[in-house]
Amino acid sequence: MSKMYQAIVVGAGPAGSSAALTMARAGLDVALVERGSFPGEKNMFGGVLHRLPALEEVFPDFWTRAPLERHIIKKGVTFMTGDSSFNTTIEAGNFDRPPYNGYTVFRPRFDSWLAEEAVKAGATLITRATVENVVLRNDRVAGVTILDRQGEINAPVVVAADGVLSFTAKKAGLRQPTFDPAQMAVGVKALIDMPREVIDERFGLVRDQGFANEFVGCTGGVRGGGFLYTNYDSLSVGLVFHLASLRTSGKTPYDLLNDFLEQPQVAKMVRGGRLQEYSAHLIPEGGYNMIPELVGDGILVTGDAAALCNATGLNLEGINLASQSGVLAGKAVVAAHEKGDFSRRGLQEYRRLMNDSYVIKDLKLYRKAPHMLHNDRIYNEYPELVCSVMEYIYRIEGAPKENLSKLFLKTAREKVGLANLAADAFSAWRAL
Ligand SMILES: Cc1cc2nc3c(=O)[nH]c(=O)nc-3n(C[C@H](O)[C@H](O)[C@H](O)COP(=O)(O)OP(=O)(O)OC[C@H]3O[C@@H](n4cnc5c(N)ncnc54)[C@H](O)[C@@H]3O)c2cc1C
Repeated sequence: MSKMYQAIVVGAGPAGSSAALTMARAGLDVALVERGSFPGEKNMFGGVLHRLPALEEVFPDFWTRAPLERHIIKKGVTFMTGDSSFNTTIEAGNFDRPPYNGYTVFRPRFDSWLAEEAVKAGATLITRATVENVVLRNDRVAGVTILDRQGEINAPVVVAADGVLSFTAKKAGLRQPTFDPAQMAVGVKALIDMPREVIDERFGLVRDQGFANEFVGCTGGVRGGGFLYTNYDSLSVGLVFHLASLRTSGKTPYDLLNDFLEQPQVAKMVRGGRLQEYSAHLIPEGGYNMIPELVGDGILVTGDAAALCNATGLNLEGINLASQSGVLAGKAVVAAHEKGDFSRRGLQEYRRLMNDSYVIKDLKLYRKAPHMLHNDRIYNEYPELVCSVMEYIYRIEGAPKENLSKLFLKTAREKVGLANLAADAFSAWRAL
């Protein structure tokens, strides 16, 4: 196989299909190369799909056509200790009116559909094709080679959208050959079948409403957190761990996930459900400081391949950043074709568009969050502090009450230490 296109996109995830769709709609002859037997086959996430402003611009009827599950109207956080938990939930009327704030989706369905839209716009989807190297001509990326096919595909520009371990960006010299476990997380997820009416009843939902809950203090001392999201007739329940902390702990993600599912508060939520599947994937969580060089001669890097994931501890945004960067990469390639310049300089439009976008602005704003999250007290002592104080507030013992601020300080001194509390509050204030 040896064919010439006007652009090649490696990886048909949200970043790649958004890039291919943008370029194909502008009339370019684009190859979208995916290692799976169909787009999404190898992809998993939590997952809440947040708003996609750039894609909505290219594709105005996006939300009415995409294969979506429930729209999220309730967001909660649960602080857990062994046998106590404290929940906070926001249920906002605004989240229940279009345009909705976020939807649960299934990646195999969503990614296949988005890639298909790129194909309808004119892109050529090549599946079962694992890119193993980039083709260099005069020190410029000029194509890719495909594993086991002894062939290459050529184009004056390649968009690397091949996810967190991006082989393409590494081969082009835009990323380090190895990754730093301190900047990575691993997520594991159980998909649990449950009848729709049980989910509605259990989580207080009607129509297509959905619930997204995060958990702190549920990871057996490993830095990380839990999640539970409602689909139409299943629950996505899982944990995300900082890789370095998981490695040091010697624990396995699946054992920790099973422990999580058996914790009394979670067990009640998943009761009666039937485990359908487990899945796991890496997440680039290093934030702004992890972003590699986005542009090289004949190449652009997008989505997880460029570490464009915003994990603040409050929310995990990845697909929206991937899709936004894909659209902007697509626009930059279209502009480069108009000028006929695919050098690093000719492709700088991507850098400019990215710097102006919420993707880089948000990652810059929260650049201290990854460091803040490397604090073990968040996962152990603080959930205990929150649960102890709340338990005291509601406990009736027939004895005189203690002043609440004094009680808080006393418990904080015991559980965390006042100097640590002040330092952590300052660090959170600066990070968020
Ligand atoms: C447990 C977990 C929970 C998450 N929860 C959320 C959430 O709730 N909301 C959210 O917005 N984000 C979430 N994310 C993050 C989100 O999934 C990613 O940020 C997003 O998928 C990145 O999209 P992408 O297109 O850049 O990469 P990917 O989705 O990884 O797609 C890359 C594509 O490239 C293909 N590919 C890889 N290598 C090659 C190769 N050599 N040749 C050809 N094809 C290749 C892959 O098969 C894949 O189709 C979560 C992630 C995890 C792991």
